Amino acid sequence: MNILYRSTRSDAAPITASAAILKGLSPDGGLFVPETIPALKKPLSCLAGLSYQELAYEIMSAYFTDFTEEELRSCIENAYDSKFDTEKIAPLVKKDGLYYLELFHGSTIAFKDMALSILPHLMVTSARKNGVKNEIVILTATSGDTGKAAMAGFADVPGTKIIVFYPHGGVSNIQRLQMATQRGENTHVAAINGNFDDAQTAVKKMFNDKALAAELGEHGFQFSSANSINIGRLVPQIVYYVYAYCQLLSSGEIAEGDFINITVPTGNFGNILAAYYAKLMGLPVRKLICASNKNKVLTDFFDTGLYDRKRPFMLTSSPSMDILISSNLERLIYRLTGNDSGKTLAFMQDLTDKGSYTITDEMREGLGDFVGGCASEEENFAGIKALYERTGYVIDTHTGIANAVCRAYMEKTGDTTPTVIASTASPFKFAEAVVGAIAPEKLEGKSDFELIDLLSDLSGTKEPFAITDIRTAPVRHKTVVDAEDMPADVKQFLGI
Ligand SMILES: *Cc1c(COP(=O)(O)O)cnc(C)c1O
Repeated sequence: MNILYRSTRSDAAPITASAAILKGLSPDGGLFVPETIPALKKPLSCLAGLSYQELAYEIMSAYFTDFTEEELRSCIENAYDSKFDTEKIAPLVKKDGLYYLELFHGSTIAFKDMALSILPHLMVTSARKNGVKNEIVILTATSGDTGKAAMAGFADVPGTKIIVFYPHGGVSNIQRLQMATQRGENTHVAAINGNFDDAQTAVKKMFNDKALAAELGEHGFQFSSANSINIGRLVPQIVYYVYAYCQLLSSGEIAEGDFINITVPTGNFGNILAAYYAKLMGLPVRKLICASNKNKVLTDFFDTGLYDRKRPFMLTSSPSMDILISSNLERLIYRLTGNDSGKTLAFMQDLTDKGSYTITDEMREGLGDFVGGCASEEENFAGIKALYERTGYVIDTHTGIANAVCRAYMEKTGDTTPTVIASTASPFKFAEAVVGAIAPEKLEGKSDFELIDLLSDLSGTKEPFAITDIRTAPVRHKTVVDAEDMPADVKQFLGI
């Protein structure tokens, strides 16, 4: 079956997967969605014996139908290789009754590696398929994590360059070191004098600057974006949910057809949407538990049908979930309207104009697959500590939110369905907060790397290579620019 992609905000003619990957966002501001969700091609018992790469092919080939088998297999092979520190790519571990799906074994030890290690290859292939001769220049503003994950994915991928801007003094010391030591001749990082919003605004301006685009074009370059609404990031995330189910089958924890629940620590709603797509493809999932921190817009939305961003923004120890506009939710809204782009556009317009929207009762009936829940800092830390004390297993503060929400849900409802927790970051990435949760008395006066050593002792696990690397890797990127000088900096890096 040939799958085409249409916008959530207009009835413009649908386009191929490769065209949607190249565009990222639809020109009308909508997100691309597949016209139909394909079903799993084989019974789960057949998929259960496959390697991660083989399974990735089974899933992705159902969506990226204009890619040849050779093209897609090559993308997969280049993505899921020794960049990951385990052959399993996404191992599932059982601790204290729950199954933690470890999505942090890639180069930046967080789950965004799962999609960002394949997106560059999908993009270059898409460019070739669509007759684009220009080199792709990825432009990103980052508050810390996404920029690094994107750079790690694009580093040394032929036919691409990547430029990342981050707020000077606005990221953690470890995040800064991770970016400043980035290898790859095609990578460029600059700190900007300003905050994340300044960086983001300037990047958006460059994307919309027609004169700049023309100048780039003359020199054989064109901008593209690697942000999380790209369908080329969403689809690769479906794979690991099916893989988790397959691992449960192979190890005899469940039988074919048994239902599971999936809990996801959520920010932009991309990761949990991928789990929902897995369910729609036929994976036996009963509940999708959407876990939020104190920025609980989504919890309220699932409880009431009102999405309201007009509330104070709170900084928490799970910063990648500190989000008030969950962009990928638009794809769910579109589905709930019965794929009505006019209605979806109206809701999104309300969100922009009034800061909120309320879905209809009919639409709310379609939300039965989801449960929303949130956890406070204290609940998060207590959960991390309790798990550590019972099992010795250490989770990070994002996974901790899912852990706390999930365990509270099970206690309240008595639901005993086997449950997978999307484990989105290595605890070593958030060592200070994690040590603060499990051994606060040992926290005082320790440097970043001392905390990492301590965590290594406490957890009995070796620090990941991503950490070892930044202890000694040379700093390659030292540029600091003003926001208004960002275009000049971009041109200088591109040599134009
Ligand atoms: C990005 C991120 C999340 C949130 O994922 P979404 O797809 O944006 O919902 C959760 N945890 C970590 C560690 C992340 O980096």
